[in-house]
Amino acid sequence: MQKIDLHSHTLVSDGSLSPLQLLQRAQANAVDILAITDHDSIEAYQQLGNQALNGLRLIAGIELSTQWRGVGVHIVGLNIDLTSTSILSGVAQQEQARSERAQLIYQRLTKLGLAIDFERVKEIANQSNIGRPHFAQHLVEVGAVKNMATAFKKYLGDGKPGDVKQCWAELPQIVEWIVGAGGVAVLAHPLKYKLTRTKLSVLLDDFIAAGGSGMEVVSGQQNKDETNKLARLCNEKNLLASCGSDFHQPSQWSEIGTMAAFPSECEPVWAAW
Ligand code: AMP
Ligand code: MN
Ligand code: MN
Ligand code: MN
Repeated sequence: MQKIDLHSHTLVSDGSLSPLQLLQRAQANAVDILAITDHDSIEAYQQLGNQALNGLRLIAGIELSTQWRGVGVHIVGLNIDLTSTSILSGVAQQEQARSERAQLIYQRLTKLGLAIDFERVKEIANQSNIGRPHFAQHLVEVGAVKNMATAFKKYLGDGKPGDVKQCWAELPQIVEWIVGAGGVAVLAHPLKYKLTRTKLSVLLDDFIAAGGSGMEVVSGQQNKDETNKLARLCNEKNLLASCGSDFHQPSQWSEIGTMAAFPSECEPVWAAW
């Protein structure tokens, strides 16, 4: 049985391990096929360069941020050509969006009376690719909240002042960048959006119309009912199925290479690679 993990993060975005540390951890956990999918960045691959893979198969990936009908949605791009103008210009645009968004988040949180040191937030984010978790970490360290979960609940989560979504490129544009780079566009963690069955179905239809061709049927920690539900939806929509831990850091959420069993009735996204 091959171990496949097509969704993971490094400190290039909001993970805690360097790209090399992540690769080594995946190898130690006997992962056969790995995709690093940092938020709106492919820098991990640039940092890895020609690093020896010792039998592990590394698939070029990314997780792009967008919104659909006011819901923050993530699209994973897999098997993309990292040198293509399509993905390079897309990443440049998202980088700009992320930096403008960080300014907006800073202004909004400051208006609430929170004492945010923006320079410190940048430092936590290693000076680039600032995300909400970096603000959350800062809120914890200055004692404004007791932990990250509360930071999201009060200030950064869905519908809260720090939840800024309008900067991202639109869904069709995001899919076009991935497909233009020769990759497969996959809807990430479909259950995380807390949509009704009907609304999720409409999102998938819009995604497919834009050129999307896959969805994650296994993501992070998931129970059997959830996997069955997603597997049915995936086949109903004739989509390829992907799986990924969404690993961010050791001892938080899911471990790299560890997830629920892949449903055998689905067509794996990696079958054609
Ligand atoms: P951003 O890319 O800035 O929109 O931040 C989204 C990231 O925040 C997600 O990918 C998660 O890693 C993290 N996140 C989302 N919700 C929570 C939460 N409740 N607690 C901690 N981290 C979270
Ligand atoms: Mn994240
Ligand atoms: Mn995500
Ligand atoms: Mn992710």
